[in-house]
Amino acid sequence: MELFLLLLIPLIARFVNRYQKTGSVFPAFYLSTKHKEFLKSNFEFYQKLPPKSKKIFERRVALFISSKKFIPRNMDHVTWEMKVLISASAIQLTFGFPRVNLSWFRYILVYPESFYSRTNQQRHKGEVNPKAKTIVLSWKDFVEGYLKPDGRNLGLHEMAHALRLENRIMNEEYNFLDHEVLAEWESRALNTMKEIKNGVEEFFRKYGATNNEEFFAVAVENFFERPTEFKARHPLTYQTMCRLLRQDPVLLEKN
Ligand SMILES: [Zn+2]
Repeated sequence: MELFLLLLIPLIARFVNRYQKTGSVFPAFYLSTKHKEFLKSNFEFYQKLPPKSKKIFERRVALFISSKKFIPRNMDHVTWEMKVLISASAIQLTFGFPRVNLSWFRYILVYPESFYSRTNQQRHKGEVNPKAKTIVLSWKDFVEGYLKPDGRNLGLHEMAHALRLENRIMNEEYNFLDHEVLAEWESRALNTMKEIKNGVEEFFRKYGATNNEEFFAVAVENFFERPTEFKARHPLTYQTMCRLLRQDPVLLEKN
């Protein structure tokens, strides 16, 4: 009997922990038909995946939704459509890492449009705050990011910041980016940032030259939005990003 109780304690602790994180004791492993239909008609990355990968994508989106707390700001509530698309954006970026769910980040704050940030007293479209375990997004700008394949995508940009932090912050998911590939990436990034500053590089927008983190985020936007052009203009950088993120969006272009 005592042994039984001893075995029961960690199980109860796990349920309590999950309840505190998600408001439910049960993990969600499956998306409803309504959510799947919504992805099918609104999320291009998902549309292009082969059937087997689609199933994996759905399960990962379901898990992401159930493991985050979505908090509305300057609006009444975060709709299920917002939750599905924001989560899909995170899974698109992390699809090469089956176990990475950006688990350090517990809260997704959604504003209807750009918001005033106390951090630097400017209007922001998005930000990632590791101390508060929070990813913040302007819904208007998130949607606009997916409307045009122009190399600008707020959702992917902020998720890219979150991914690098998740990799650095010691927690259950850290240190998943390959060290050698990451070192190769940093050296290529440094060169391209110099070229942007010198006005030689035009494919990546100027903001990418701000620092390593911003260059990575801007490159991620282009990696998914304009992969064929990225590969043609910067084949080695593109290949490095494929190895770093363990996926190749150009292959999906053919589907
Ligand atoms: Zn940024």
